[in-house]
Amino acid sequence: MPAPQDLLHSIFGFPGFRPGQEEIVDAVMAGRNTLAIMPTGGGKSLCFQLPALCRDGVTVVISPLIALMRDQVRALREAGVEAGALTSGNTEEETEGVFAALDEGRLKLLYMAPERLAASGTTALLRRINCTLIAVDEAHCVSQWGHDFRPDYLRIGELRRALNVPLAAFTATADEETRAEIVNRLFDGKAPESFLRGFDRPNIHLAFAVKDSPRDQILRFAAARRGQSGIVYCATRAKTETLAQALKAEAHSACFYHGGMDAEDRRRVEIRFQQEDGLIVVATIAFGMGIDKPDIRWVAHADLPKSIEGYYQEIGRAGRDGAPAETMTLYGPDDIRLRRTQIDEGAAPADRKAADHGRLNALLGLAEAAACRRQVLLGYFGEVSEPCGNCDLCQRPALLFDATDAVRKALSAILRTGEWFGAGHLIDILTGNATQKVREKGHDQLPTFAVGRDLSKPAWGAVFRQMMGRDLVRPDSDRFGALRMTDAARPILRGEAQITLRRDTVDKAVPRVAIKT
Ligand code: ADP
Ligand code: ZN
Repeated sequence: MPAPQDLLHSIFGFPGFRPGQEEIVDAVMAGRNTLAIMPTGGGKSLCFQLPALCRDGVTVVISPLIALMRDQVRALREAGVEAGALTSGNTEEETEGVFAALDEGRLKLLYMAPERLAASGTTALLRRINCTLIAVDEAHCVSQWGHDFRPDYLRIGELRRALNVPLAAFTATADEETRAEIVNRLFDGKAPESFLRGFDRPNIHLAFAVKDSPRDQILRFAAARRGQSGIVYCATRAKTETLAQALKAEAHSACFYHGGMDAEDRRRVEIRFQQEDGLIVVATIAFGMGIDKPDIRWVAHADLPKSIEGYYQEIGRAGRDGAPAETMTLYGPDDIRLRRTQIDEGAAPADRKAADHGRLNALLGLAEAAACRRQVLLGYFGEVSEPCGNCDLCQRPALLFDATDAVRKALSAILRTGEWFGAGHLIDILTGNATQKVREKGHDQLPTFAVGRDLSKPAWGAVFRQMMGRDLVRPDSDRFGALRMTDAARPILRGEAQITLRRDTVDKAVPRVAIKT
């Protein structure tokens, strides 16, 4: 039987679970009756698709939305999964195809419109094809008082009794009345395992910082939290070792952990972390699965995480006891360059790469957020919230400025030099720094030479970093990381769009204004 975690990567191409998904998948895998309440866009379908692929037999999925079923079936087939739908939207041919696949025992997922349940023979069919799990999407449709009431949903309870298999119900409607109705009608009043925890972990403080001296930044962060248990995540194995050494040199109790160590050494670190107070583990993302320590007080990222999902999972290891916990994530242009290159040079097909760039953009949007980070984070998972008061940006709002002019100058420097150079050289041109390379290339003769004297070199560095973060420019790995303009930048170049960037990361000399929210 394949493990859900493996299929998450290999079939769905996701870097990790989203909040809540893993617990739900575990419960469904174990064959327990479940009711999961997740916001729209939170990723419900994965919670039954993944167990369906890992378990024996066929999972029948009941959903009221024909278009959505067809979309899911198409997406699953494209990913190489045998799925089919029986709905009134089918052509005769499609229906025949589904029955043929069922007869040959090829299907893992059978989507079905609720109307089908009224047809005689449906229960017998599901029995014959070895249906071992019922998944019910939009489970609130069973509620007679809601707008979405579907009378055929009332037959689902009967079907569950007849087949005597576990049922997993999903909905975005969380009010108590609806929940009670779902429990009564789908589960005969016997409470299923329920999941309705929101995504938010309000006790975790969120903060990002631009990398300037990463080692010192981590050491300072740890020094202010001496004696507390914490995790530092690094992008490479080598870095975990050097950083652990640096922490030890400052008299912290610290050790490193990565996938290159043998199982016994890893186990030893896990046990120490579990048992000792105040140990710092410097680790790659190999560390964490199965770590169940409630009083981890802080998590720092020495490098930009891989995705928002990864970020959420990793910071989520802090403060499980509900007491205040802190996080800090360092990021810089090198991180962005590295992640982009990893995606571009990976073996994934083009559409997956585009999706990965999109996910990276979302993470960078969080890193360069202008206001409450938690709102951005929860918004990504489909949850609407108020400014939290417990993140760096709520406590110290970013100062914004209209950067349209600066960005246009930067784009013009990129285009006039044929998209063949990195930020360092471009900044020399913009600030009028006639280095040898600038003179050799004749770039001191360009109209853009010295047009950016109004900003300092570090200020330009921040503009370029934010341009990378907004995906206005991308490093091209075929050109040694030279920055190239993307289509997203065109409206700004043409003067059709404005852009606002953060001032506080642009110019450190600007005094920080603290506004109480
Ligand atoms: P809903 O909860 O509204 O049914 P979906 O199941 O359609 O949401 O998922 C919403 C989006 O989230 C989809 O585009 C899906 O591909 C994406 N998604 C789901 N799970 C993950 C994950 N673990 N990592 C990244 N993206 C995910
Ligand atoms: Zn906030």
